[in-house]
Amino acid sequence: MKVLFVTPECYPLVKTGGLADVTGALPLALAPFGVESRVLLPAYPGVRDKLTGARKVATLPDLFGGTGALVAGRTADGLQVWLVEAPHLFARTGGGPYLDANGHDWPDNHLRFGALSWVGAEIAAGRLGGWQPELVHLHDWQAALVAGYLHFDRSARPDPPTLLTIHNLAFQGLFGMAELASLRLPPTALDSDGMEYWGNLSFLKAGVRWSDHLSTVSPTYAREILTPGQGMGFDGLLRERQHELTGIANGIDVTVWNPLTDHALTTPYSVRRLPAKAANKAALQAQLGLPVRPDAPLFCVVSRLTTQKGLDLLVAALPRLVARGGQLAVLGAGDRWLEDSFRHAAHEHPEHVAVTIGYDEPLSHRLQAGADAIIVPSRFEPCGLTQLYGLRYGTLPVVARVGGLADTVIDANEAALRDGVATGFQFSPVEVDPLAVALERACELFADTVAWQRVVKRAMTRDVSWSVAAGAYLDLYQRLLATRLPDTSPHPAFT
Ligand code: ADP
Repeated sequence: MKVLFVTPECYPLVKTGGLADVTGALPLALAPFGVESRVLLPAYPGVRDKLTGARKVATLPDLFGGTGALVAGRTADGLQVWLVEAPHLFARTGGGPYLDANGHDWPDNHLRFGALSWVGAEIAAGRLGGWQPELVHLHDWQAALVAGYLHFDRSARPDPPTLLTIHNLAFQGLFGMAELASLRLPPTALDSDGMEYWGNLSFLKAGVRWSDHLSTVSPTYAREILTPGQGMGFDGLLRERQHELTGIANGIDVTVWNPLTDHALTTPYSVRRLPAKAANKAALQAQLGLPVRPDAPLFCVVSRLTTQKGLDLLVAALPRLVARGGQLAVLGAGDRWLEDSFRHAAHEHPEHVAVTIGYDEPLSHRLQAGADAIIVPSRFEPCGLTQLYGLRYGTLPVVARVGGLADTVIDANEAALRDGVATGFQFSPVEVDPLAVALERACELFADTVAWQRVVKRAMTRDVSWSVAAGAYLDLYQRLLATRLPDTSPHPAFT
């Protein structure tokens, strides 16, 4: 099966969030199932240099205001990549793929991702690059317009089916209606059942309307986005297509996140060499200036510091954690007021709280290895990755019961403990008191070393690799292809 991924990000070429991990890992995880993937993304500065064997496979003479090229190459892991090389759109340095140096959206983002989508649609239709996919997998609003171009494509040949994965409904690709003309779409694209959205045009809405199928990154988030509370204005549209909406939880790269081979750690460990985890805890406590106490439950946070992540609740619940003798190590960056709240907490409780503001990949690994538990109190969470790393490292997740957090952590209630299936702690609703109670429950279980170790072992043996998700995507791809197969049953007129 041949599948084209269209995406604005792909690890290890360019990454701002979990979306890049999915488009970097899923094609590789699908390869053993016989899926031949190509990943199409923009040639941001430096991306072509990270590919081996990069070569031009097509010229794009009229690409939304300039000349471009389609460039093929591969990553060190063997991922087959196609780049849209268009200096007038993508050769810019700023604050990542979407923002200028001042942190504002580039004013022509509609053209930049319109161009990406247009090239994706041309490849899908078999008109570009000499390779036609049987299915096209779109990621987020930046790729969603592929479905629009294919919808209005008047060529006689049937197009491959499209699947749109929504990684975070908060990002909807909204632009002024007047931009439609520059996007090479007909005026009818703005009909009420088209991509018009409250006086704007929305790339995401185009994808929701015209993709053959929709998915999101966990089963619970797939249900939550059908509700007014979590649907971010799209719940009505999504409810219309709820029978064509699938939730598949992400996996993680278990080679990068492997406590036995992780070079960031002081002492490697595994489920069979669990006592060695304690050495990582002692090293971390010492590094962070916390008292080196094996008996103090050490909690960590590795996160963007935003209201989505619910960390203001943790600040409020902190006195109850401190009262139980718990320690907290925070690594994160984001909203200034949250950064200041955590700095203040560290100042107030120097024996219990250590805060590192910034982005630090090696430290994030050492926190996952050295802490006893990781706290993820998100108000909404499409999937979430840090709780999965926590499971893999035997660092029990304490999570809000929302989205992918609800799907990937089994609460240590009496029944789950008795049956030996618990892997962490859940709380609901997402408020201060339930979070504090969950933290207290974690402290209580931690005091029972045998029971805690049993849960740790269970967490570490959960399969959080991509192979589970890849199987689910393959199944979905096959169902979508089956709906497009030519009808070979005898025509009624001839029976
Ligand atoms: P989101 O994509 O909403 O930020 P996820 O949990 O899906 O949340 O993914 C966050 C990723 O970013 C994880 O890999 C996490 O380890 C990493 N991360 C977040 N903040 C930091 C930080 N300050 N330093 C290092 N890694 C971080």
